[in-house]
Amino acid sequence: MTLDKRLGQRFLPYGANYLDWDDMSELRHAVEHGVLFRYQTETESVASRLERRVARELGAGHVLAVHNCTEALRLALVSTRPRVGDVVYIPAVTFVAVAGAVLSTGLVPVPVDVDDTFSLDASLLPEDAQRVIVAHMEGTVAPLPEGVPYVIEDAAQALGARFPDGRRAGTRGYAGTFSFHHNKVLTSGEGGLLVTQDPRAWAVMRCYHDHGSARQPGRYPTWDEDAYYGENLVTSEEVAAVQLQQFRHLEEILAGLERHYAIAVRELPDRPDVELMARSAGDAKTSIRFRLESRELRDAAVARLTERSIANWTLGKYLLPEHPVLKGRRSLYADGFPWNLGADQPRGISRDGFARTRDLLDRTLCLPLSPELPEADQVVAVKAVRQALESL
Ligand SMILES: *Cc1c(COP(=O)(O)O)cnc(C)c1O
Repeated sequence: MTLDKRLGQRFLPYGANYLDWDDMSELRHAVEHGVLFRYQTETESVASRLERRVARELGAGHVLAVHNCTEALRLALVSTRPRVGDVVYIPAVTFVAVAGAVLSTGLVPVPVDVDDTFSLDASLLPEDAQRVIVAHMEGTVAPLPEGVPYVIEDAAQALGARFPDGRRAGTRGYAGTFSFHHNKVLTSGEGGLLVTQDPRAWAVMRCYHDHGSARQPGRYPTWDEDAYYGENLVTSEEVAAVQLQQFRHLEEILAGLERHYAIAVRELPDRPDVELMARSAGDAKTSIRFRLESRELRDAAVARLTERSIANWTLGKYLLPEHPVLKGRRSLYADGFPWNLGADQPRGISRDGFARTRDLLDRTLCLPLSPELPEADQVVAVKAVRQALESL
């Protein structure tokens, strides 16, 4: 793809740059064997190979492939055996799928304010918090709250990122979730993974995701005497095959993002009114982010970049307390389930009614990095951004 075209692509997923018929051996294998259902075969399925590879590469004890990250979040939540109406603390800044996953599990989301890097501020959590979802936004690894029995790490945007101790995002909490949606680090169009270090939690998740059954691969499902109801969240072989192909390129993509980020740090003007937000060493460098002095300056920067066809995005859409679904406590159920069970729950937890967070979001600007470009082209891309910002 030409540089001009690449710069102009708004939501091109990183992994999609690596989709190539000559590199689809897993997909060919699935099609040639005529098996697209993972439990149709007694031999190792493509989905099981995927899970094994992810466990090895991420250092995750147990992995389960599902259709998307929203499902993975729901499965993680239900596996904690909550009571309907229980509260789940979620970040005030994240994609609405997090709130939807909580609500559709019969639980009540309470957004908690975030810090400067848009990570949930654990110091605001009540002492008796039982369930917290932490989101590693834009590849930034968020610290995990301590002393909470069920911390779920939403790593939808942070596949491959590492904590300061070297462990991968998603592998330190009770459970971690990943997305292969179109605009994530890797993509299979739709796709999700759930990981946990706890073998008993994994056994519960695996049953629930296959109708509550204790199925042996290659057989019709069976139900134990103490089986509970479940759903069908079982992935397909062809999707797992694309995910496996994508996974083979993960380190290459992370390294390409790292290189492009380093060029940006070196080459971009660090004006006091256009501050480049520093990233931690372990972050997946999925974007460069700027914090500008004012909203007006941010909007002017968006206009300059956009008129030069340079892809960019802003984060205001992620402010959940202002999302219509949370603001209006909206539900399709006639009795407002499950909001009706949390009528006395706070609308959110913040020191200042989310004013500081709203201001930070209004002044933030993100640009994609292009891991697949050779270094010389990455330099050219960064220079185009520099010119646009210098013209402000
Ligand atoms: C994309 C995303 C999700 C949802 O992932 P899907 O695979 O589309 O269901 C959840 N959380 C965050 C932070 C996301 O960015």
